[in-house]
Amino acid sequence: MKSIFLADEDATLKFGGHLARCLRPGLTIYLHGDLGAGKTTLVRGVLRGLGFDGRVKSPTYTLVESYSVSSLYLYHFDLYRFKHEQEWLDAGFSELFGDGTICLVEWPERAVNLMPSADVEIFLNVDGDGRRIELASSKIDVAACVDQWARAVA
Ligand code: ADP
Ligand code: MG
Repeated sequence: MKSIFLADEDATLKFGGHLARCLRPGLTIYLHGDLGAGKTTLVRGVLRGLGFDGRVKSPTYTLVESYSVSSLYLYHFDLYRFKHEQEWLDAGFSELFGDGTICLVEWPERAVNLMPSADVEIFLNVDGDGRRIELASSKIDVAACVDQWARAVA
């Protein structure tokens, strides 16, 4: 899909809210982008979209935060602090991936050879005062769902 400009934090939250409606159990989502690109904000938008109204904190120190909402199990990872890929194995995180869960991963580059491959890849970049987002998915239904929204806002 083409890239979408998100003018402010609220636009990122809204995009997350729409993305939430395109997700289903079993999906692995990689979130690419520098520190401050808006990855955690996007996950917050996804969770808000699913009806979660608690705190959505960055898993920078905990490495993973788990959520049970709207009969879905979500795991939000942040691998920024990984120094060696081996840490992925030590943490036993692969067990959290599977048919029953949705996994969103910040800094997947840190363990990309060891973790399950992505069904959806999202790229976030700073663009002026806002952010530019691009999404690629090997799942046709997910890609079509996001495209539908992209056309509606264009
Ligand atoms: P990351 O998880 O990628 O490090 P965060 O989600 O923590 O980034 O966001 C960093 C900052 O970017 C936050 O202050 C957030 O409000 C801001 N932000 C998020 N989306 C946008 C946007 N579309 N335009 C401008 N600022 C944004
Ligand atoms: Mg973050």
